[in-house]
Amino acid sequence: MSNNKPMPVATEISAPFWEGLKARRLLIQQCAACDQWLFYPRRHCPACLGHDLAWREVSGQASLYSFTVARIPTLPDFIDEMPQKLAVVELAEGVRINTTLVGLDEAQIRIGMPLQPVFAQVDAKGGRLLRFTGLDQDAIGFETMPDAQQAPPLAVEQSDRQQVDCKDEAALQALVSERFSEWSNSLLVDQALIDAFAQLSGDDYWIHTDPDRARRSSPFGGTIAHGALVQVLQSRLKLALGFEITGFSTQINYGSDRLRFPAPVPAGSRIHARARVKAVEVRERGTQLTLEINTHVVGQERPSVINDLVILYQR
Ligand SMILES: [Zn+2]
Repeated sequence: MSNNKPMPVATEISAPFWEGLKARRLLIQQCAACDQWLFYPRRHCPACLGHDLAWREVSGQASLYSFTVARIPTLPDFIDEMPQKLAVVELAEGVRINTTLVGLDEAQIRIGMPLQPVFAQVDAKGGRLLRFTGLDQDAIGFETMPDAQQAPPLAVEQSDRQQVDCKDEAALQALVSERFSEWSNSLLVDQALIDAFAQLSGDDYWIHTDPDRARRSSPFGGTIAHGALVQVLQSRLKLALGFEITGFSTQINYGSDRLRFPAPVPAGSRIHARARVKAVEVRERGTQLTLEINTHVVGQERPSVINDLVILYQR
């Protein structure tokens, strides 16, 4: 398989589907309110607009809804897969999936034929893509589903985060709290990262970039990260907020009401962050949410960055 093929990127919404494929399982969303199955992964049910969606493992029982045989590669990287048998497959649950048929000759392909899912491992980390083949077909180079009896049920991480509509002022005000969230994941801030930021920003002051001199002369006994670096690393820390705002068309980083760097982050430290909703204002131009995000060196009481980040949700 060519290494340059475009690969799907899992999003927060679609991640359970891709995690399922890694385990050679097929997970599809179902609406808790009206039982509608849905694919592709979404935030709400297309039938009743309900937001309470659950990921469920399905059997993979499927049939061919439609197909086309592409004799010119859809992208040059697919030259090794010619001809491409591009298909729309319908699962027993009724959802349709765009996919590629494998292990079948053109002459064998018939609309309505029963199909089974197979999995193509595409990277060393266990990333897999979903393909389909004939029911009794042995598609060489592809893996089948594990036997249902032998495979333990897959633990699907359900999102239990509260969903709050950006127009629901009462629910939004209820998010305002003095209490901070749990900690995020942690991240190592090493000298290589600090050096890369020094190069990018042009701030190569020795206190950040010269470990020998910093060991001799810095009050911190070594180099420290730029405050601005620690601030932007917030993007790599997944805040454990416990809610998500819905119902907006765009989300704008409006800036900060307050940005402080009270404590240094020595090179080689791990950082993590927590946050709380400090204020909410529902205005004509949208809903403005002020999030106080505090980034700390792991184990340190005093925050390294205090950022009162203002986010504007536009409807
Ligand atoms: Zn529904």
